[in-house]
Amino acid sequence: MAKIFCIANQKGGVGKTTTTVNLAAGLAKIGQRVLMVDLDPQGNATMGSGVDKRALKLSVYDVLLESASVQEAAVLADKCGFQVLGANRELAGAEVELVELERRERRLKTALAAVDADYDFVLIDCPPSLSMLTLNGLCSAHGVIVPMQCEYFALEGLTDLVNTIKQVHANLNRDLQIIGLLRMMFDPRITLQQQVSEQLKGHFGDKVFNTVIPRNVRLAEAPSYGLPGVVFDPAAKGSQAFVEFAQEMVERVVHMDAAATESSAKS
Ligand code: ADP
Ligand code: MG
Repeated sequence: MAKIFCIANQKGGVGKTTTTVNLAAGLAKIGQRVLMVDLDPQGNATMGSGVDKRALKLSVYDVLLESASVQEAAVLADKCGFQVLGANRELAGAEVELVELERRERRLKTALAAVDADYDFVLIDCPPSLSMLTLNGLCSAHGVIVPMQCEYFALEGLTDLVNTIKQVHANLNRDLQIIGLLRMMFDPRITLQQQVSEQLKGHFGDKVFNTVIPRNVRLAEAPSYGLPGVVFDPAAKGSQAFVEFAQEMVERVVHMDAAATESSAKS
């Protein structure tokens, strides 16, 4: 059974897409079967995996409107070792078109159920908003990975996201939980970042991932070559951190499964 994770934060530029493509590549590197779903009409995760968004015959848009299955629309990112359900500008229209349709927030969930046995991980790159697209992501997922920068307003910005996740959990998806907060673009020389990092650990405890992703220029350069940093320059500090993060995610999934077995044994 595939474990499905949304990479979400309504703030733009915090590293959602970088996290999605590099975690996908890191997981593929350690032998996991991965599907990456791009839910952002900008299509950055698609391009960043080496798939040309302008050349897509079918995309996540067709899947949301139920004119194609995931199996039909997914393509292999051959240099990266994972499958991509891509997005392009067409997806922006889905927001409006979905409003008219029934089960509008569950379309992705239904579609992913059909490929459940084909993957170990499904990673969903969400747009920087709490829109119908993001809602489709959150309805499908077992958990949310929240990339964030350790800046002054970081904790404040989290409140809205945490509340949305609580609401989705209460009304639409009882499985949903925050898996963890990922400290992104971290620079240990900056005292403020260290302070915010400590605050985060104080507030969220073990919901803060052990792995920290450093600020690393190779991660920022990689998309212009149509590759995740992990593939573009495996030796770079940022790439190594993402492979470490992939290992941490595999361990977390084992813990999630153990916790689920325990709670079903009790009930
Ligand atoms: P989002 O998807 O949340 O909008 P992106 O992943 O596109 O954020 O990242 C925003 C910008 O920051 C991009 O230019 C990206 O290359 C850069 N970036 C992301 N992570 C890092 C990092 N660890 N080190 C350096 N630059 C980074
Ligand atoms: Mg993005």
